[in-house]
Amino acid sequence: MSETSTSVNRGPGAAALRDPTRLSFDLDVDICVVGAGLAGLTVALEAARLGASVAVLEGRHVGWNASGNQLGTVMPGYGLPIGELIERIGFEDARELWALSKEGAEFVRAAATEEQMPGISLSEGALEVSNVDVGERLISQLQMLSEDFETEVEGWQVDRVRSELKTGRYFHGVYYPKAFQIDGRKYVHGLAAMARRAGARIFEDTPVVSVDASGIRKRIVTPSARLRASHIVLAGNIHLGAPLRRLSDTLLPVWRYAGVTEPLGERLNEIIAFKGSVSDTDGIDHFRIVDGDRLMWASPETTWAMRPRRFAGSIARRIRTIFPQLGRVAISDVWGGAIGQTVHGMPQIGQLRKGLWVASGFGRQGLNTSAMAGQLIARSILWGDERWRLFSPFELVWAGGPIGRVAGQIVGIWERGSSATSGALARYRERARIQERLREARLAETNRQAASRPANPRRPPPGRQRPVRPPPAAPPPEPPAPASQGGGETT
Ligand SMILES: Cc1cc2nc3c(=O)[nH]c(=O)nc-3n(C[C@H](O)[C@H](O)[C@H](O)COP(=O)(O)OP(=O)(O)OC[C@H]3O[C@@H](n4cnc5c(N)ncnc54)[C@H](O)[C@@H]3O)c2cc1C
Repeated sequence: MSETSTSVNRGPGAAALRDPTRLSFDLDVDICVVGAGLAGLTVALEAARLGASVAVLEGRHVGWNASGNQLGTVMPGYGLPIGELIERIGFEDARELWALSKEGAEFVRAAATEEQMPGISLSEGALEVSNVDVGERLISQLQMLSEDFETEVEGWQVDRVRSELKTGRYFHGVYYPKAFQIDGRKYVHGLAAMARRAGARIFEDTPVVSVDASGIRKRIVTPSARLRASHIVLAGNIHLGAPLRRLSDTLLPVWRYAGVTEPLGERLNEIIAFKGSVSDTDGIDHFRIVDGDRLMWASPETTWAMRPRRFAGSIARRIRTIFPQLGRVAISDVWGGAIGQTVHGMPQIGQLRKGLWVASGFGRQGLNTSAMAGQLIARSILWGDERWRLFSPFELVWAGGPIGRVAGQIVGIWERGSSATSGALARYRERARIQERLREARLAETNRQAASRPANPRRPPPGRQRPVRPPPAAPPPEPPAPASQGGGETT
């Protein structure tokens, strides 16, 4: 059973994890990191371990945004599907990028030990399920992942998926035995503690208001202090603000919300036997059992910030849509955070000009990718590791500003709608196939009985055929469900 708790971590005790120290004096360092989320903290930890003097400037507090509000699932790969990655940059480079993404996951595994982060509750295995019947596609994806990309995966047939998750909503699954989950919130604070122990200085409540990256020694200004550094790493996600507006504008901000139910008792484990994380291939649902009998579930998204509590109802309805046997579930806590989506779906990792670095755009899959970015950037600055250049084909593309957000919301609604429609169609086809199989079985049985019956003495004479009774009509198939109107509530 998963021991991970989110509700406990989000309670009043969470504040005790913070001891904000505002920067109020001028400072000279080798590396200044903007942002104390997963990305910034990993850069800081790695660079400090390699001997650099590091200052992290955080406008709010450690893990304030997405990094302190994620579900803790660590998978290999990127938000961009592997096929599209190969199409974009070719097979060899895609393989290298994939290998880097696995290194990122291994970094998290090595850091997230009980000794370093007590209560981190690492548990193994994640399942990616499809909303549509994709048997053929699944086999080729599995072959590619295991043979070409050296990733341990298992293909699960529909029956296996449905014996672990008692719902007709999902079809095939890809099981990643080496993927894992941790308590996400504890991880980000554990990372900060490790970075501090390695010598990095983290200043909270210290927003960066301007950056001058032109000279060899760069200048950073905060409300009450100035810094000079040889390198600046921008790891502020969508919140970088006015001084770096052009960079922020290359990200489409998407707020993702998640909630945790009240304890659901033993019935939860009967309905969901799988103990790792489950996510669907459309990126809509993401859930797992926590605290033994609670369900933690991320689903709705918006392109404007909204109060997370407003989404309690839609999360509960979504759970009921997928697992109606659970009945009405009460949501005890809801939270959310903004992720930065790039136009091409890959993170922004690299050097913008000499000494000015970016680590951003990690989207929904930020744990392994931000860890990898942190390692790559720190090693490039201190060791001359040039592998970050593999990300060069994914240039900074304007995400469309406010118009892009409207478009993003519409595309999001459309994607959820079309995925709901294809899911409904897949379930409709499945029902039709079952009915067809039943019809065939009935016909075969009738034929078998007819063949084994002794010749009927009262058979009508040749030429006068007895009328054949048609097989009973199958019940009319259920029509496909209407397209969702967003919020993930009506699929
Ligand atoms: C509900 C939810 C569930 C998720 N689940 C998962 C999951 O299970 N697995 C997974 O891999 N990913 C998950 N993610 C995605 C993951 O959380 C993000 O990709 C990741 O946290 C991004 O980290 P970051 O450091 O880039 O950004 P952030 O967490 O946004 O950190 C950036 C920090 O920079 C600071 N900042 C910005 N500008 C400035 C400035 N000018 N001066 C000072 N500070 C500044 C901000 O205050 C912020 O604290 C989830 C996200 C959400 C919202």
